[in-house]
Amino acid sequence: MSKVELRTPELFRERCFVGGNWLDAGSHETLTVDNPATGEVIGRVPNFDGQDTAQAIAQAEQAFRTWRATTATERSNVLWRWHQLLEEHVDDLAAIITLEQGKPLAEAKGEVQYASAFIKWFAEEARRSYGETIPATKPNQHIIVTRQPVGVCAAITPWNFPAAMITRKAGAALAAGCTIVIKPAEATPFTALALAYLAQQAGIPSGVINVITGAPEEIGAVLTASPTVRKLSFTGSTAVGRKLMAQCAQNIQKLSLELGGNAPFIVFDDADLDRAVQGLMASKFRNTGQTCVCANRVLVQSSVHDAFVEKLTEAMKTLTLGNGFHEDVNQSALINYAAVEKVVRHYNDAIGQGAQRVAGVAPDGSNGSYVAPVLITGVTPPMQMCQEETFGPLVGIMRFETEEEAIRIANDTPYGLAAYFYSRDVHRVWRVADALESGMVGINDGALSNPAAPFGGVKASGLGREGSRHGMQEYQELKYLCMGGE
Ligand code: NAP
Repeated sequence: MSKVELRTPELFRERCFVGGNWLDAGSHETLTVDNPATGEVIGRVPNFDGQDTAQAIAQAEQAFRTWRATTATERSNVLWRWHQLLEEHVDDLAAIITLEQGKPLAEAKGEVQYASAFIKWFAEEARRSYGETIPATKPNQHIIVTRQPVGVCAAITPWNFPAAMITRKAGAALAAGCTIVIKPAEATPFTALALAYLAQQAGIPSGVINVITGAPEEIGAVLTASPTVRKLSFTGSTAVGRKLMAQCAQNIQKLSLELGGNAPFIVFDDADLDRAVQGLMASKFRNTGQTCVCANRVLVQSSVHDAFVEKLTEAMKTLTLGNGFHEDVNQSALINYAAVEKVVRHYNDAIGQGAQRVAGVAPDGSNGSYVAPVLITGVTPPMQMCQEETFGPLVGIMRFETEEEAIRIANDTPYGLAAYFYSRDVHRVWRVADALESGMVGINDGALSNPAAPFGGVKASGLGREGSRHGMQEYQELKYLCMGGE
């Protein structure tokens, strides 16, 4: 591990965690993991395959027999302990996130707190998993509905939130009484392994959480072909989600998909422009533009367009690009060079179609994984940056004239994860909130993620919800008991 001293060095693990054992690569190759800020190798993890995946599933199956029989209070207590350990190790966990993912250290700390809040939330929810009774249709009959854990679950997670995307799934699964096999992204396995280490320290029994690293297609194929695995929860791109959904059809596996977005951010003429700028800064530049809920298409009503652009230009002067470990840095390296190339492609396409740069530096791919924030105006819907997630610090402003036009443009996408708008007219607020086709709507707020609220999308942005009481129900089956009587 390169140039970062951890207070608890045991958190940095180059082994997989299966059935309570830490497994080295053995006869397998290893995968190297780089620091995106420097390109330096920070460590290696096993390149496990289908056979190893099958072993992890078997361990999770064995553990499920006893974990499912624990009481809600027992599960809640052990999840609380896990949550506390994340809080105690926030600095080390944040350092691991910044090291492998690149995000600024302050944001990495924020992610650890966000991640640990999911565990706390589900520790609480575990105890409130109520069933129901239904008035019977025959004399002396009783109709009762209970909730049962679905069984062994699988989670495949992305690199952009290496801690939170795991706890949002594992917290819910464990609270419900399920066991889980997790495959983290190749770029960010060390956060996942540190979380597994703390789960073990917290007393979560062997086999309840398993983390394997390695070949994504092969691991995914085994997880989805296994009749033992009853649910897959995937967060990542829509392209991979689509493939996995088809694979899950074989065994009719339950499925949650948290996929890509293409968030509209609409500023109406009655908006508080300062708040709107503040909201856009929070939504667009978090994780240097690499979140699924980042504002991707900024629509500003004509009469406030110039004032908004002026204020945004000013606000963007507070952005400082650099290594995420350096103080004052709030924009860091992108995850890899392919991510840089996407921003450059979107920028060149927009400029080629008539957009103008008004602030920041034109991205040209000449600064390794670093891209400086850039603001352009004159953006139109056919441009690539409006069709796909940019996943980088490029902001493009589109003008619109009427509310109807803004809603039509906002909904004209196959995606529907987050949407944002700013308005002070209460009638407009309800109209627009109802009309937007997305799973989540930020109204005069640019930061909507919260463990208490259901996170998820519609259309090609996915299926199911994470967080909130709904998040745990994704890991449960309803069982209807019909008791006849004399
Ligand atoms: P990705 O390429 O789809 O990868 C996500 C995960 O899937 C990684 O663990 C990856 O493994 C694995 N994977 C890749 N191909 C696979 C296959 N054929 N079978 C099984 N697993 C496979 O996405 P990403 O680039 O990491 O993440 C960015 C995307 O995630 C963006 O579109 C973003 O919007 C979305 N996202 C959505 C949410 C949400 O809640 N809706 C949250 C965060 C991110 P390797 O890393 O080993 O390739």
